[in-house]
Amino acid sequence: MPIILALTVSTEHEIQRPIIDWYRANARPLPWRAPGTTPWGVLLSEVMSHQTQVERVAPIWQDWVRRWPTPQAFAQERIDEILRAWEERIDEILRAWGSLGYPRRALRLHECSRAIVEQHGGEVPADVDALLALPGIGDYTARAVACFAFGQNVAVVDTNVRRVYARAILGRANMKPRKAELADVAGFLPATDGPTFSVGLMELGALICTSRAPQCHACPIAAHCAWLAAGRPAPLIDETLPRQTFQRTDRQVRGKIMKLLRESPEPVPQADIDVVWPDDAQRARALFSLIEDGLAEQTPDGRFRLPR
Ligand code: SF4
Repeated sequence: MPIILALTVSTEHEIQRPIIDWYRANARPLPWRAPGTTPWGVLLSEVMSHQTQVERVAPIWQDWVRRWPTPQAFAQERIDEILRAWEERIDEILRAWGSLGYPRRALRLHECSRAIVEQHGGEVPADVDALLALPGIGDYTARAVACFAFGQNVAVVDTNVRRVYARAILGRANMKPRKAELADVAGFLPATDGPTFSVGLMELGALICTSRAPQCHACPIAAHCAWLAAGRPAPLIDETLPRQTFQRTDRQVRGKIMKLLRESPEPVPQADIDVVWPDDAQRARALFSLIEDGLAEQTPDGRFRLPR
């Protein structure tokens, strides 16, 4: 019988209030959590910090909301300027974390800002379905924006929430994403302070109930945690993500070409690209994939540049 069936109403309350109180006392002062952050600022923070350490994103986010404080400002910006800004600041994160898809993420964000302007009068919509209809906005981001920008009591499930839920409620070290998890977590939201509880779950997973070294001694719900009570049984699945080797991959070549394009105010000739990497086939494949992804374009005279 699944352990979740053992969950009682009293258990929900025993877990909800301690998490809310713990979050209020321990939340990191991330800039997008400051009062007055606009829904656009929240949306930006969620897109930028996806699979990335939030402390590294914070200064970049501050730059961006100053530079593009509204969806209109972002939508009116030239794509090559956004790609330059993104790549300049994100380079160290990309190299340190090997996160995929940053430039593509910037392109999708630009499309998203245009859709907000054209379809919603420049105002980020509050409704989960309307958010989901925006380019590049997936289930997690739509729910996070509805919850954290508009105070809606909707379930928000990321890897941290999934881990805390698996441990505290199901008594398992971890679990893979599954369809029922949204309904499970939604059924666990308190009637009041739902958004604070949701962000508290995320923060608890990020700071205390971490994947490799959960600090159960400092956990506000340790007394009610099913995994701890069961003696912290070993995980049934391997949560370790395969490490991307950055060196000598196509991605490294793409990065070198992108660096060349963003640092050049003028379109660059093929001869300049030819010297960034010695392997002809790999270089050509990288350049072709950048063009296919909409991250580079060829001018009528055969040179290359960031898209405009
Ligand atoms: S007691 Fe330990 S395993 Fe359980 S939720 Fe807290 S940190 Fe996670």
